[in-house]
Amino acid sequence: MLPMARSILNGLVQITRSSRGAAFHTSSLMGCKAADTESNNTGDNADTDADATESSTQSSVPDVNDRTKVIPVESSIRYLKSAAYKQTYGDGFVWSQYRRNHKGMYAPRKTRKTCIRQGKISTGNPCPICRDEYLVLDHRNTELIDQFISPHSGEVLSYSKTGLCQKSHLRLLVAVQRARDYGLLTYDVPFREYDYSEYYGQPKQKQQKS
Ligand SMILES: [Zn+2]
Repeated sequence: MLPMARSILNGLVQITRSSRGAAFHTSSLMGCKAADTESNNTGDNADTDADATESSTQSSVPDVNDRTKVIPVESSIRYLKSAAYKQTYGDGFVWSQYRRNHKGMYAPRKTRKTCIRQGKISTGNPCPICRDEYLVLDHRNTELIDQFISPHSGEVLSYSKTGLCQKSHLRLLVAVQRARDYGLLTYDVPFREYDYSEYYGQPKQKQQKS
């Protein structure tokens, strides 16, 4: 039994050695071939690979980070009244569930400059307006703009509260001002006290003199 076992063991060892050697040999060959092909036509290979990946992504799933598509304001207004919007945001504001991501204990004073660079979302935590492409800031979209106006002071809420990026916040300010100019948003002018004697006092004095 012992010599038979030894012979079997030797055979196994030989098989493993030979297979290892073969594997190593083939891998080295493959490496050499790959290196040769790369050295021959690297540019062509890279181009074809990039084309293949692009075509596959375009055909299968649309890019969720793509923001080149222009959404008309009318569809945004319809979206704000839809069941999909209700399911997403509930009764709260668009920005109320948003939390900023930042390192350290304290958030930077200003929010990021923009969430969208070159037609794509360039961050993992885009602001409440940029993350939902169907939220279009426009003076006609008063239902959306109203969410960013304080009911107490009537002023536009700060970006430190809403978390909007600087670009979206500027667009919001423009939309609010335009809506007020068009009369789509009501707002209170500050109360002024007039000294009416400055307006009505003088004619009486003139009459007394004459
Ligand atoms: Zn943004």
